[in-house]
Amino acid sequence: LVVLGIETSCDDTAAAVVRGNGEVLSQVVSSQAELLSRYGGVAPKMAEEAHSLVIDQVVQQAVENANLSENDLSAVAVTIGPGLSLCLRVGVQKARRVAGTFNLPIIGVHHMEAHALVARLMDKDLQFPFLALLISGGHNLLILARDLGHYVQLGTTIDDAIGEAYDKTARWLGLDMGRGGGPALEELAREGDENSVKFKIPMRQHKDCNFSYAGLKTQVRLAIESRNIFTDKSSLSSESSHDRRVRADIAASFQRVAVLHLEDRCERAIEWALKIDPAIKCLVVSGGVASNQYVRSRLHHIVKKTGLRLVCPPPSLCTDNGVMVAWTGIENFLVGRYDPPPPANEPEDFMYDLRPRWPLGEEYSQGKSEAR
Ligand code: ATP
Ligand code: FE
Repeated sequence: LVVLGIETSCDDTAAAVVRGNGEVLSQVVSSQAELLSRYGGVAPKMAEEAHSLVIDQVVQQAVENANLSENDLSAVAVTIGPGLSLCLRVGVQKARRVAGTFNLPIIGVHHMEAHALVARLMDKDLQFPFLALLISGGHNLLILARDLGHYVQLGTTIDDAIGEAYDKTARWLGLDMGRGGGPALEELAREGDENSVKFKIPMRQHKDCNFSYAGLKTQVRLAIESRNIFTDKSSLSSESSHDRRVRADIAASFQRVAVLHLEDRCERAIEWALKIDPAIKCLVVSGGVASNQYVRSRLHHIVKKTGLRLVCPPPSLCTDNGVMVAWTGIENFLVGRYDPPPPANEPEDFMYDLRPRWPLGEEYSQGKSEAR
């Protein structure tokens, strides 16, 4: 079994070829984060154009780097949601063209399920059921994965995701937005004193597993504004060591509280999850923010106390990639969940099955009474 995976749900155009046994034959990512960040975020139309420009080349590279031709593929997996429909469309159209031309079955993949399941590619001992914390640019989810395709949502964000808070904070601090703001912020935070600015930890009074990052974002913006430091990129090269220190302190203090919020919620989610299913042995942490070393080490701490095992995919598999899509395709294919090959000449205006908003599993119905 050899599956091509295609991912275009947000600002990365990615493709990969993976074998049924989990062997990664190739992985190609073309990121538009840099381009899009110059316009202050992901503008759907611009992102769509950026995907369209590179999709053919990214897929071709993935197949070539695997030393294969399309004829050797067994199926094509593609992200069909959640995400921006204009962007999803580019990937789905490409996937269906390849599948149609080479008569291959096609598997529609949930982007967040892929973030979670990729952990099973690199850790063959990771069995269902497990708990997953998915932290990225658009999502903040605590998911109990009971079985393939059977997910219970213990918590989600009521406003922003943690990655969005990292990105805005990085932007306000004048940092490089090359791979989203996260990596640059993580680096600056290493120089700072994490106890210097007193930000309030979100939602301490809510005894549930939901998240909120909008309030922390506002606190950070006010802290930066009140300190009268230069934060535009052009003046940073000549900034005083005092100003650099102030920026680093804000970055470190933001990161501490952003992650404390994750710790709070994970501790409670582990309690809830073990009550629902005592067989749980692992906490999977994935999504772009899970590539952060500070996040990993803090969560490692929490998980150790509970006797569970922390499973974090390597950073290149935490941020958006084609491997996770191919792998999720493989898992679903093996249980018979796939669509037959599309016709070779599908019309341009064909109504694709795109799912821009697509919850992963049902909400935990007992959540409200647990929270009391
Ligand atoms: P979603 O998965 O919710 O649809 P997305 O696909 O855009 O969103 P990912 O690629 O999974 O997101 O993650 C991107 C996010 O991860 C960005 O917000 C980015 O700043 C953040 N990120 C990446 N590396 C780090 C890091 N080292 N520290 C903190 N955040 C990081
Ligand atoms: Fe993602």
